[in-house]
Amino acid sequence: MREKKERQKWKEILQEKVQPAFLAPWQEEHKEEAFKEIVRETLHNINSLKGDKEEQKCFLGQAKYIIKEQNDILKVKEKAQMPKESTSMKEVMKEVASYFNGMFNWVHPKAMFNVTPPAAIPSVMGNLMGSMFNPNLVEEEYSGNVAALEVEVVGMISKLVGYDPIHTIGHFTFGGTGAYLFATKLALTKCLGKESRWEGIRKDPQILVSKVGHYAVKNCTDWTGLGMNNVRAIDIHEDSSINLDHLEEVMEKCYEEGKPIAMIVATMGTTDAFGIDDLKGISEICDKFVKKHNLKNRPFIYADAVIGWAWSVFNSYDFKENPMEFSKDTLDAIEECTQKIEYLHLADAIGIDFHKTGFTSYNSSMICLKEQTSLDLLIRDKNQMAYLYQFSAYTPGEYTLECSRAGNYALGAWCNLKYFGLEGYRAILGNLIESEKTLRKVIEKESSMVCVNDKDHGLVTLFRVYPKNLGDTLGSKEFAKEQYDREFKDPSYKEALHKYNEYQFKVADELQKMLFKENGPALSFTSNFRVTSYKEPIAAIKAYPMSPYMTCAEEELREHIISYILKAADRVDRQLQNR
Ligand SMILES: *Cc1c(COP(=O)(O)O)cnc(C)c1O
Repeated sequence: MREKKERQKWKEILQEKVQPAFLAPWQEEHKEEAFKEIVRETLHNINSLKGDKEEQKCFLGQAKYIIKEQNDILKVKEKAQMPKESTSMKEVMKEVASYFNGMFNWVHPKAMFNVTPPAAIPSVMGNLMGSMFNPNLVEEEYSGNVAALEVEVVGMISKLVGYDPIHTIGHFTFGGTGAYLFATKLALTKCLGKESRWEGIRKDPQILVSKVGHYAVKNCTDWTGLGMNNVRAIDIHEDSSINLDHLEEVMEKCYEEGKPIAMIVATMGTTDAFGIDDLKGISEICDKFVKKHNLKNRPFIYADAVIGWAWSVFNSYDFKENPMEFSKDTLDAIEECTQKIEYLHLADAIGIDFHKTGFTSYNSSMICLKEQTSLDLLIRDKNQMAYLYQFSAYTPGEYTLECSRAGNYALGAWCNLKYFGLEGYRAILGNLIESEKTLRKVIEKESSMVCVNDKDHGLVTLFRVYPKNLGDTLGSKEFAKEQYDREFKDPSYKEALHKYNEYQFKVADELQKMLFKENGPALSFTSNFRVTSYKEPIAAIKAYPMSPYMTCAEEELREHIISYILKAADRVDRQLQNR
């Protein structure tokens, strides 16, 4: 037997290492100071990875990647080891910061990779508070008034999109995909009846969505067990919006085949281009369809507005007076989009990503239902969840897929909505659209480049670049435009289309190298932003500015973006010649 000490080992570790790692249960100034100190130091560690302003570097630290190839994943797993003894917090925080080396710095104006937003400070703080106190939105009892805060966001968003907040209900979830999944589940249950929750899916309800709708539809039909073959892809117009004639045709076909239509998805802002579907048209077609065939159920209309919802801040904008003083081009672009977005309230449910055009931290998404009563179908029996819901009036855990659901989702969104207000979001979006307009203008002036999504007016610009020597062959000042036009319309250009699709990839690849070696812009590549009139995929390079520091000056865009693209194309040309 060891001698009896004052303090057992476990107590020593608990008091010296474990307790200091937790926030104090009561007010204690020195503990608060210790917390501030670790925050200050962590902030310093990570902020020192940013480049200085002149450097124009849009990623953090050094672009040295731990995983360069498949085999490296194995090495990482092999090397990984949980330490035997507790480390110092400072050490851990220093070590973890190093993992941010090489990551894109989304708030940098040259980080134009995708719809990846920089998180604004109010949302960061909301998340921090959520992380510190861990409200769980499974029900009110576990989240206190953060439950009311979630309901408040639903109210704000309902009013913003034109829903009657008295009738709506909504909740935060893990992503636009989570919102889509919830809508799919609800639509299927409406179509097949509540019994289907016990008996399973034994029919083939159909889900209709445009060809450029998000692949989430595949996940949702796969994971619900409906099966991906029950998705029908509808043709699109040149502006990437759904073709209503084709939609109607497909609906009739479903009817003839005896397959019920569970859900029609209106994509309100597609991911690659910025196509916005005609929701009013979809809604009218549904009414006509129901009447014509005397149906009991109207197809559930889901608005996948994860990107487009933010344009609702312009629903109440005075486009005549233009108090924000946007340029004519920008004003027209916003008005055109808003005229489609303002019909969001015609959808039965809307999916919203705050972690896209709401500028919050990941994840923060919401599903908002027009009619609270439609949830009755999905509510679980209270006695299935014996230990929950004894004392709460607000119990979303009775119908959400999640059991534990972080308060962070709602806190981040609420803080941003409160901070920015309509004015702030109008300025963020307005600036990015001003910038998109200028970028397109600059591209227009380059004979070897062509913008390929000039019919839509979101934040993103898709373009193609062609080799200079093609210009010599064609002998035209607008050769890129003319070439693309032919590739788009004329099936005899199919081979050229493929060849120059490949060329876009090579240029994008070169740009990727320049990004890290020469502090170039972070652009991305899409192998198929849409298909040609003869149904072949069109590749494009994508510039998706998201930073509030994005410039609208032609000169700067030429210097920081266009010059790199032209240089990349030059290098590819030389590589091809030297073959
Ligand atoms: C991003 C996106 C989704 C998926 O949302 P996540 O938040 O990434 O899960 C769905 N639809 C569209 C149109 C999107 O752009």
